[in-house]
Amino acid sequence: MSTQTIASPIKNLQKIGLKKIKPLHYQLHPEELIQDTLRLNQGVLNDTGALVINTGEFTGRSPKDKFIVADETMAGTIHWNEFNIPIEPKYFDKIFNKVTEYINSLPEIWVRDCFANADPRFRLNIRIVNEKPSNNLFAYNMFLRPTDEELENFDPEWYILSVPGLKLNPKECGTRNQNAAVVSFKHKMILIAGTGYTGEIKKGIFTILNYLLPIEKKVLSMHCSANMGKKGDTAIFFGLSGTGKTTLSADPGRKLIGDDEHGWTDDNIFNFEGGCYAKTINLTEEKEPIIYNAIRPGALVENVTFYPGTNKINFEDASITENTRVSYPLHFICNALEPSIGNLPKNIFFLTCDAFGVLPPISKLTPGQAMYQFISGYTAKVAGTESDVIEPKPTFSACFGAPFLPLHPGKYAQMLGFKMQKHNVNVWMVNTGWTGGPYGVGSRMKLKYTRAMITAVLEGKLNNAEFETDPVFNVAIPKQCPDVPSEVLNPENTWVDKKAYNDKAKYLAGLFKKNFEKYADQVSAEVLEAAPNA
Ligand code: ATP
Ligand code: MN
Repeated sequence: MSTQTIASPIKNLQKIGLKKIKPLHYQLHPEELIQDTLRLNQGVLNDTGALVINTGEFTGRSPKDKFIVADETMAGTIHWNEFNIPIEPKYFDKIFNKVTEYINSLPEIWVRDCFANADPRFRLNIRIVNEKPSNNLFAYNMFLRPTDEELENFDPEWYILSVPGLKLNPKECGTRNQNAAVVSFKHKMILIAGTGYTGEIKKGIFTILNYLLPIEKKVLSMHCSANMGKKGDTAIFFGLSGTGKTTLSADPGRKLIGDDEHGWTDDNIFNFEGGCYAKTINLTEEKEPIIYNAIRPGALVENVTFYPGTNKINFEDASITENTRVSYPLHFICNALEPSIGNLPKNIFFLTCDAFGVLPPISKLTPGQAMYQFISGYTAKVAGTESDVIEPKPTFSACFGAPFLPLHPGKYAQMLGFKMQKHNVNVWMVNTGWTGGPYGVGSRMKLKYTRAMITAVLEGKLNNAEFETDPVFNVAIPKQCPDVPSEVLNPENTWVDKKAYNDKAKYLAGLFKKNFEKYADQVSAEVLEAAPNA
């Protein structure tokens, strides 16, 4: 790197209060970040050369410890709720001072310039300062990587300061715990303290984009994956965590646009990110070859264990966490679209992992049903308890992404509704969860079948299919689908106990209705009529 480009980060960092800049590792290559991680004993290599780290106390995001500074301008625009938690400006100042003081005391730091938003019209320049080299590698993998020329005149707009080792004093800092992620739109800064979970970094930027793009650029921001077929047909996949966005968008027959965060403009779909962040629990080469083969030098694997006495990852082991992950840059997969900008979508999939086993594995939605489902944002996880009773835990998360949406869900829903209509998009609901009964009785839908259903849609093979209406959710279920046994298509057929099926379906319908009450006075009659029959 030329001295000119090194001078720029130092000058800018001094501007934000970082003075004692001793070894400052600027814009290191992945190999160097890997070497630094190994030198500091903060990670090891697995047998395929990927860097394996442990993120420490936190192995997932901590939504209750994420704050948005409620200053004069933001107080009235943010939709304050359990995910958008206000913090007073005086506490931001306090935490900022703590963070910069802490960074100034560190023996070395890693700084990286990168950007978000593949569409150059919306590019957002980011500078990240890390306590840990592995977290800097995460930023390299996940954000867009500027070229040397782009770095020459790089002007950072947003800053992320990430210090997992700094524990905050909640009383003094106005936080809930010793860890926090604090977003200030006024200072254009995200402070992450007390947690080493890398996902906070990417979802921090996602949160600000979910504010900036719809408000300032009229771009719909979406928690979805996206890919494009050979004929230029784009599909997008919305869904909450664990529903299959990353898994199902990795399709050897289609070009990947991105696996988690996208914008929908008047003329395209673009990726916010430059990498993928895939779950690795139970990963096998046979079922998910694209992700499996991305685990190589440069990939960063989190919170997995090795088979004893080896450096071979045991993907089945959830002893550290169920949320084991790997991040890798988009170019690690052979079929990534470069740049990650695709055509306007032809098909939208709403992915849900229904652990009650009552939603059909694939169904076609009317425009009203599509809006109803988007606003509902349903999935159900399996929540184990200490007793033997294991009940699925339903989640309704508006727009399939409530934890990351600073604006009222109505804003995103309105934009989606308008775009869906304008571009005449087909909308499908895909249950990647249970079939043949609820969790404990039935089993998860085979990935092979879910992939076949999606392929059938994308190849137009369901265009002339015969449909039947789901008796409870009123959605259209195809009677046949290539490469899928017909008996799995209608959930009722897969349950031995028909009464139990009906009770469970009605029960879930009731949950939908209850959840929707708070939106009822803000939507059209068409959307309200799309409610299931409880
Ligand atoms: P996040 O927002 O947290 O990144 P995601 O929507 O990207 O979540 P995935 O990483 O794709 O979720 O996780 C889906 C998980 O479910 C994977 O581990 C996948 O192997 C597993 N799975 C099992 N059966 C299916 C199925 N029928 N369809 C999709 N995924 C399945
Ligand atoms: Mn994902």
